[in-house]
Amino acid sequence: MEKTLFQKIADREIPAQIVYEDDRCVAFRDISPAAPVHILLVPRKPVTSLAAAGAEDAELLAHLMLKVGDIARAEGIAEGGFRTVLNTGADGGQTVPHLHIHIMGGRSMQWPPG
Ligand code: AMP
Repeated sequence: MEKTLFQKIADREIPAQIVYEDDRCVAFRDISPAAPVHILLVPRKPVTSLAAAGAEDAELLAHLMLKVGDIARAEGIAEGGFRTVLNTGADGGQTVPHLHIHIMGGRSMQWPPG
């Protein structure tokens, strides 16, 4: 199976500004930031999307969720607040078929999103 873009980043085959990694996930700066802080948190396992995740991924998803707060604190955006986004599928605006959590902060966010 061809590696996904985010697998290649996690495996350091494509350069990225990695801000956090452990045995289950990697976080790096979005190449086209939509906020002063814009990080993508991805599992090393190439789960295609939230819709493709299964019960076997429960612990992995919990791990990712808990890492969001750690990363936000490390980036200095936890206190002021931040936005997390999980785009799923074409209508959800997902462009990379490897589950990823956008962590965005450093400015005031609007709602609803476009
Ligand atoms: P999504 O539209 O939710 O699938 O988000 C994909 C995100 O990946 C976008 O915000 C892109 O800017 C970002 N992206 C694409 N290629 C790279 C890359 N090589 N390094 C870092 N971020 C990337």
